[in-house]
Amino acid sequence: MLWPVSTDRKYREMIRCPKNEFGKPTSWSVKEIPPKISPYKNKRPAGKGFEWRAITAKNGDTIFHVLALANSKRGNYKAFLTLQEPQDRFMIARFETHPSHPGIHYHTWCKSQNIPACPNSIEAPFRIPKPENVSQHRSNVAFSPQSFWLAACNAFNVIFGPADQLRLL
Ligand SMILES: [Zn+2]
Repeated sequence: MLWPVSTDRKYREMIRCPKNEFGKPTSWSVKEIPPKISPYKNKRPAGKGFEWRAITAKNGDTIFHVLALANSKRGNYKAFLTLQEPQDRFMIARFETHPSHPGIHYHTWCKSQNIPACPNSIEAPFRIPKPENVSQHRSNVAFSPQSFWLAACNAFNVIFGPADQLRLL
C-alpha cells in the first residue's frame, strides 16, 4: 500500500501540525524497537551504540509516532515521524544529525513520491535544508540523547501535557 500524497505541502503540514501526547513517552531503551511505534514492518535492533525512545501523539483523530534514536558516542541522532493508519504506518520525515552530513536536517518526500508503507529501509531523499545551503545551517550543536529528544519533539510539534489543560490556555 502507498500513502497517496500528491503534494509536498501535505508532508510539511504533517510535520508542522500540533500533536498532543497520547500516552506517555517510553523510557530510553537499548532493546529491539517494536514495530508499533516505528516506521518498519518488523521489530528491529536499535543498532550498535544506539538507544531509543518514543511517543505517540495525536492531531485530531490522526495518530503519529515519534521515535528517536541516539548514539551519543558517534554524534549520530535521528528521529522518525510516522503516520499511523488503520492498516499501515508511513514514515513522513526523519530529523537527524550525523557525521556524514553537517548540520541538523530533515529528510522527507517530494511531491512526485508516494510513501511506501512499512518498508525494510527508508530512502526519503528530499532534504531540508538543501545540501547546497548547508553553510547557512551548519551548527556545532552538541546533543545529548535528552536534548535531541526534546529537539525532535519540538521539530515535530509534539505538545506534552493533557490536551484538556491546553484547551484552558
Ligand atoms: Zn541525513
